[in-house]
Amino acid sequence: MEKKIIELNKLLEQSKKLSIITHYNPDGDAIGSSLAIYHYFKRLGLNSNVITPNIHPSFLNWIPGIDQINIYEDDPLKSSKIISESDLIFTMDFNSLERCGELSKKIKDKNKIVMIDHHQVPENYAVINFSYPKISSTCEIVYNIIENSGKLNLINKEIATCIYLGMMTDTGSFQYNGVNSKTFKIASDLLKKDIKQSNIYNKIYNENSISKLKLLGKALSNLKIIKESKTTYMYLKRDNLADSNYEKGDTEGIVNYGLSLKKIEFSAIFIEDLEKKNLIKISFRSKNNFPCNKFAKENFDGGGHINAAGGMYKGKIENAILKFKEKLKKFKS
Ligand code: 5GP
Ligand code: MN
Repeated sequence: MEKKIIELNKLLEQSKKLSIITHYNPDGDAIGSSLAIYHYFKRLGLNSNVITPNIHPSFLNWIPGIDQINIYEDDPLKSSKIISESDLIFTMDFNSLERCGELSKKIKDKNKIVMIDHHQVPENYAVINFSYPKISSTCEIVYNIIENSGKLNLINKEIATCIYLGMMTDTGSFQYNGVNSKTFKIASDLLKKDIKQSNIYNKIYNENSISKLKLLGKALSNLKIIKESKTTYMYLKRDNLADSNYEKGDTEGIVNYGLSLKKIEFSAIFIEDLEKKNLIKISFRSKNNFPCNKFAKENFDGGGHINAAGGMYKGKIENAILKFKEKLKKFKS
């Protein structure tokens, strides 16, 4: 990483306008890593702008700096202007430009890009690739960049909160495969910055709305098991979402409940998009070695990590489920 840090410092010196962008439907790691590096740049005396393609779920509303974010869908002209004036763009928590939707079309060849990400198979668009698929969150990579820059002393409570948040959410609260002793070492360092880890946990996981719990109930009540494939799946239809006053983020994490069953190692949930008719968003989670990302990429135009991935299907939800069962059988054999 040392060589890349030298290149990064050179670029930071040469650049006047910095922007930080992340993927569509930003999650804890996307927002955490973007705001962590935003606050870090501020500590270095550098101004930057954070842009997300669309709004984050409301359970992230308390994160330091969240009110500084420009949401492309809310004001496309403003965000486009920021992008076109940037001489250096940081792409956080994704490695394929199409993951930021319309916003990706505003990036031009003249824009220099630095990728900071932990997904597999990075695209080739960046001048520096901080791409580390074995690391369990982009936030952990941001910490490593700060550490390798010899600037750990600049990590304050705000930066530590943002980094801890993304590490926690992308590791299923420090329980997934990718977690190792370095992850805990970093978490331990962050706790020394006076962050309240139990508050962060409660704000993310224990401030549910009734609509969220009702949707969870709906999904669990239609859970199906495919015993021979050690698989479960659930679904939520547009009506289910509308009936329970669905809010963005309400369906996050439901897929994990399927995985909590004994002898199950793969779980999926199919969710009809509220706005885009005919679009089904699918989430996959697994235990052990079942590669969710490979399955999502080969069959549902998606990707992600070995134990957590997503994808989509255009058509009826019934057909998405039929395809899922068929492809799973093939995949398993
Ligand atoms: P989720 O199920 O929470 O939407 O997504 C889990 C993980 O899968 C995300 O962190 C992201 O890395 C990845 N992912 C989700 N949807 C997509 C997609 O459409 N394409 C790709 N390449 N990755 C996705
Ligand atoms: Mn991530």
